[in-house]
Amino acid sequence: MYNNVVEVVQNCFKSSEFIPLHEPRFIGNEKTYLNECIDSTFVSSVGKFVDRFEDLMCQTTGAEFAVATVNGTSALHIALILAGVEKNSEVITQALTFVATANAISYIGAEPNFVDVDKDSLGINPQKLAAYFDRIIKMRDGKPFNKRSGKRISACVPMHTFGFPSKIEEIVSICDAYNIPVVEDAAESLGAEYNGIHTGTFGLLGTFSFNGNKTITCGGGGCIVTNDETLAKKAKHITTTAKVPHRWAYEHDQVGYNYRLPNLNAALACAQLEQLPKFIENKRKLASEYVQAFESIDSIDFFTEKKGTKANYWLNTILLNNIDERNKFLEQTNNAGVMTRPVWELMSELEMFKHFESDDLSVSRWLAERIVNIPSSVRI
Ligand SMILES: *Cc1c(COP(=O)(O)O)cnc(C)c1O
Repeated sequence: MYNNVVEVVQNCFKSSEFIPLHEPRFIGNEKTYLNECIDSTFVSSVGKFVDRFEDLMCQTTGAEFAVATVNGTSALHIALILAGVEKNSEVITQALTFVATANAISYIGAEPNFVDVDKDSLGINPQKLAAYFDRIIKMRDGKPFNKRSGKRISACVPMHTFGFPSKIEEIVSICDAYNIPVVEDAAESLGAEYNGIHTGTFGLLGTFSFNGNKTITCGGGGCIVTNDETLAKKAKHITTTAKVPHRWAYEHDQVGYNYRLPNLNAALACAQLEQLPKFIENKRKLASEYVQAFESIDSIDFFTEKKGTKANYWLNTILLNNIDERNKFLEQTNNAGVMTRPVWELMSELEMFKHFESDDLSVSRWLAERIVNIPSSVRI
């Protein structure tokens, strides 16, 4: 029944073999830089590729400062600490996200508090967020508290789902009104823009991931971006064991983390980041071919970027009519060697998070039953 979709994907990828959801491409300076890195013997915690990668991330995103980390989850963990998230406070985030977002909040001993997304951005719905804040927040000494739980609301973490920018300007302005710092989880949205400005640079801090399945990868890696120099310095400090610089003494002035990106991974990251514009152009071309192909398939909606935004089309996204159709679709496409995946289980449904507070999540639930990601790799 969904043979037509299998055909569309096979035509786009010019292949009748197994087609993965998203595979990395190493078609630039990867091997050159890796060899250079190995020859230098600086494969670990120091080396020029880390600095070069951080500079490249500033150029790419327009952020003033970038601090490389060992993965996207650690970047988020540190960004939340720097935003002032503390144990027993509450952090607002969307239920429709990857588990890492809620995990990083939990590492601090803070509680995720789940809000709904909207159908046109797949990100936090600003109207619902404002209404939720209006209902639950009481300000005390200029700080926002949840009047039901009595706990401080210490941050908000919007996420740019599959590389489609969320309504980030509105979200930030709603949070500003309550003095709530925004940490953008931009793990999926490298290269994606809102009103011409790179995602991840609207909040106090933003974080990226370079895991194997992301738009670019260095095996494992992450990055924190910010325009605040003090925060950037702190980020570098606590991700590098909080060691006080000295030629030989081991002095550490707080509990730090070993979250720095090894130079070996940074070498790979530099080579990949150089190719980002090319990769995104390639991915957008695939998306436009999908748009055309899905126009004639009535039972499927192909999700596209909204006005004023530029998506990176990290993972191409379709909506099926209902959960039964979705399950049939997953079964048939995967059987035919076309890898497809449903969206994540909502955070509010997971055992370790389901007792935390949630707003009405009707749209998240609606989407969770219908979303499927289809093959999205850069084509060569
Ligand atoms: C991939 C991802 C992360 C985590 O990145 P890792 O590098 O795998 O730790 C965080 N949040 C979201 C939304 C992601 O998709």
